[in-house]
Amino acid sequence: MNEKKCICGSSDVRVVACSGASNVGQIANQAAIELAKEKVASFFCLAGVGGHIPGMVKAAQEAGLMIAIDGCPVQCAAKTLQYAEIEPAIQIVVTELGIEKSPELVHDEKACAKVVEKVKEELAA
Ligand code: SF4
Repeated sequence: MNEKKCICGSSDVRVVACSGASNVGQIANQAAIELAKEKVASFFCLAGVGGHIPGMVKAAQEAGLMIAIDGCPVQCAAKTLQYAEIEPAIQIVVTELGIEKSPELVHDEKACAKVVEKVKEELAA
């Protein structure tokens, strides 16, 4: 597993999201966008890793710290990384934060903020 490290001044913190077809998958995606907007982490294309695009797999392997945000315990994002021999330093599962999975693809700002805060907490730990 990658070691956690201080993110001050680091541009090598990357985040991937499962971006699944459910409320929690989309909350994961939106949280990754917010983390990128706040410059906490750069949003990395998980599909490139899943598609075995060599340059993208290499870039993901070379990340200083990788964060995986999954919607539910199936953990598609973390498993996609692990299949490419990339161990995320931080793994977040949205449903573990008390947010119930549903097929509704509605924007949920409050849930997204909860995920963003959890990532920041983990980074600071
Ligand atoms: S982790 Fe869950 S929500 Fe995300 S893509 Fe997989 S099954 Fe869907």
